[in-house]
Amino acid sequence: MTRIVVLGGGFAGVAVARRLERKLRRDEAEIALVSRDNFTLFTPMLPEVSSGGLEPRHVVTPVRAQLRRTRFVLGEITEVDLDARRIRARHPLTGDAISLEYDHLVLALGSVTSTFGIPGVAEHALGLKTLEDAETLRNRIIAALEQAVVTPPGPQRDRLLTFAVVGGGYTGCECAGELVDFFRSILRFYRPLGLHDVRLVLIEAGQALLSDLPPAMGRYTTRNLARRKVELIISDGVAALDGRGIVLQSGIVIPCATVVWSAGVRPAPVLRELPGCAHARNGGIIANRDMSVTGLPGVWALGDCAWIPTTTGADAADKSAWYPPTAQHAIREGPALADNLILTLRGRPTKGFDYDALGMMASLGARRGVATLPGGFVLTGLLAWLMWRTYYLLRLPGLDRKVRVAFDWTVGLVFPRDIAELRLYTKRGQRQAERDAGFSPPPD
Ligand SMILES: Cc1cc2nc3c(=O)[nH]c(=O)nc-3n(C[C@H](O)[C@H](O)[C@H](O)COP(=O)(O)OP(=O)(O)OC[C@H]3O[C@@H](n4cnc5c(N)ncnc54)[C@H](O)[C@@H]3O)c2cc1C
Repeated sequence: MTRIVVLGGGFAGVAVARRLERKLRRDEAEIALVSRDNFTLFTPMLPEVSSGGLEPRHVVTPVRAQLRRTRFVLGEITEVDLDARRIRARHPLTGDAISLEYDHLVLALGSVTSTFGIPGVAEHALGLKTLEDAETLRNRIIAALEQAVVTPPGPQRDRLLTFAVVGGGYTGCECAGELVDFFRSILRFYRPLGLHDVRLVLIEAGQALLSDLPPAMGRYTTRNLARRKVELIISDGVAALDGRGIVLQSGIVIPCATVVWSAGVRPAPVLRELPGCAHARNGGIIANRDMSVTGLPGVWALGDCAWIPTTTGADAADKSAWYPPTAQHAIREGPALADNLILTLRGRPTKGFDYDALGMMASLGARRGVATLPGGFVLTGLLAWLMWRTYYLLRLPGLDRKVRVAFDWTVGLVFPRDIAELRLYTKRGQRQAERDAGFSPPPD
C-alpha cells in the first residue's frame, strides 16, 4: 500500500489529509500526519487571545477531531531523509524517537517569526505567531500594569506603560487595535492609571500601513488607529532592541518594556537545509504550479513553507508572481495538492494550482474593520468588522469551537476583559513567568 506522510497539522496539512481521506479508497493508500501540536491554531483570532477577548483553548481545534482515518502522530520533525524516504521526529514531551517511511511526502510545516537578524529582537521582543506568544503577551501587559501602578511617576513608570507593536501589516494593525480595546477595558482596575498614561506605538518601516492591500484600507486603518491614540511611526524601521527599549533607524530611542514583533515570517527552519531542491531567499521550498517539488520525486509542498508560482517560470524576485502566505491560500492549496497526488498515484497528469483571492479582511477592534471584496471593492467600518466576525466564525473548524467563540464574544459585550494573570506555581513556572513578564533587570 502507498504510504503518504503529511508534515504539519495547520491549515494546509489538515486540508490535504481531509481531501485524501475523502477521495482515496482505503486500499489505495495509508495516510499519516505528523505535527508537534495536537491541534490546529486558528491564527486570525490570535490577536483577540492576546487581549483576553477570547480564551486560548477556544481558537484551537484538535487535529484528531478533524480527521477520520488518518493516523495522527504527535512529533517534532527533526530530519527529512530523502535517500531513505523516511522522516525522523521526536515526541515533544518524552523526546522518544519516531521514524516513518513514505512513498509520498507532503511538506506543510508553516512558518516562524522572522527577526531579519536585527540585534536584540530574538531576546527582547514577543512574537504573535503561536498560542504561547499570545498568552505571554497578555501576561506581560498585565504584569507591566501591576508594576506600573505601584511605581511613582517618572521614566521607569513611563517605560512600563509604553507598548510597541512592530510591523504595519494586518497582524500588527489588528494587534494594535486589540490592545487599545484591552487597555480601555481593564484600566479601571488600575486606578489612578488611565488611558492617557499608556503609550501605544505602532512602527512600520514601509511607506504606509497595510501596504500589500489596496491603499483605501491602509488609509482607513491609519485614521482609525490614530483617532484611538495609537502613535504611528511610519517609514522608520527598527535598528536594534535592548533591555531598555527600541532604537529606530532614524536614531530615535523609544524606552519601552513590551515590544510585539509582527514584522514578518519565514518558513519552518527544519526545511531550510533540505537538499536537492530549490530554496527561496528566506529558505522556503520552491514548488511547481502543481505543488510537486522539482528534483524530489514524491515530495510536495504548500502553505507558508512553500513558494508556489502563480505563473510558470515565475521570477523569485517578483513578489506578485507567488501565492502569498495566508490561511486563505493554504486551505485552497490543500485540496488541490491532494487531487494532484491522487492523479499521480493513478498515473494521470497533474494540474497547476489556480486561485483568485477572495479579498482580505482585518479587524481593528472597537467594532471596526477593513475588507477588500472580489473586484477590488473596499469596505470599512462596522460592516467590515461584522463581515470579519461572521466569516471567521464560520471558518473556525468545529461546531463546539464556534459556539465557544460566539459565547466569548457575547460575554465581552457586557463584562470587562479578565486580568487574572495565570502562572504555574512551581519554581520553574515562576521563573519563566518572571522572564515572560520582562522582569529580568535591564543592562546598564
Ligand atoms: C496573528 C496572525 C493572524 C493571521 N491572520 C490571518 C488572516 O486573517 N487571514 C489569513 O488568510 N491568514 C492569516 N494569517 C496567516 C496564516 O496563519 C498562515 O498563512 C497559515 O497558518 C499557513 O498555514 P500552514 O498550514 O502553511 O501553516 P501553519 O498553520 O503554521 O501550520 C504549520 C503546522 O506545522 C507544525 N510544525 C511546524 N514545525 C514543525 C516541526 N518541526 N515538527 C512538527 N510540526 C511542526 C505547526 O505546529 C503547525 O501545526 C495570520 C497569521 C498570524 C500569525
